[in-house]
Amino acid sequence: MTVAAFVGLGANLGDARATLAWAVRQLAAMPSTTVTARSRFYRSAPLEADGPDYVNAVARVETALTAPALLRALQAIEHAAGRTRPYWHAPRTLDLDLLLYGRGRIWSAELTVPHPRMLERAFVLAPLHDIAPEWVPAAALAAVADQMCVPLEESDDRRAC
Ligand code: AMP
Repeated sequence: MTVAAFVGLGANLGDARATLAWAVRQLAAMPSTTVTARSRFYRSAPLEADGPDYVNAVARVETALTAPALLRALQAIEHAAGRTRPYWHAPRTLDLDLLLYGRGRIWSAELTVPHPRMLERAFVLAPLHDIAPEWVPAAALAAVADQMCVPLEESDDRRAC
């Protein structure tokens, strides 16, 4: 049995767009998992964070992994991208969040799903709306309209992939 899960991707160090394109390929290489959709890439201003603008996207995966196994696989991809955590909310090479795991609700020490802050973030809601508008309440999208988050040009996206 497989589950449809949504993964939020963000990067704001180095060639962030290339990192995201690489990360989507890594998602596709996870065991028992297929990438079934990918949003456009967006540029967003850092929120409660330092450094340059972020590039963000959301991917939909169909996976037979359990939610904890999926989180570990995401963390392995972050690690492979060379992510370090010198301090809370530091700029990051790659950040991967498990946004949704089917209709699952999880509260454990390591994992909260749906991701607790996803509805407050334009950089999650705008790309999620591209590929799964049914998961994005109009009121939530309106509430984050003041957060800078703009789609990058499609032609640039294709070049990055
Ligand atoms: P971050 O610095 O945003 O990458 O946060 C990573 C930490 O958040 C890890 O310790 C995870 O175990 C925890 N975490 C809790 N819920 C989630 C989730 N839905 N997606 C990703 N990380 C999560």
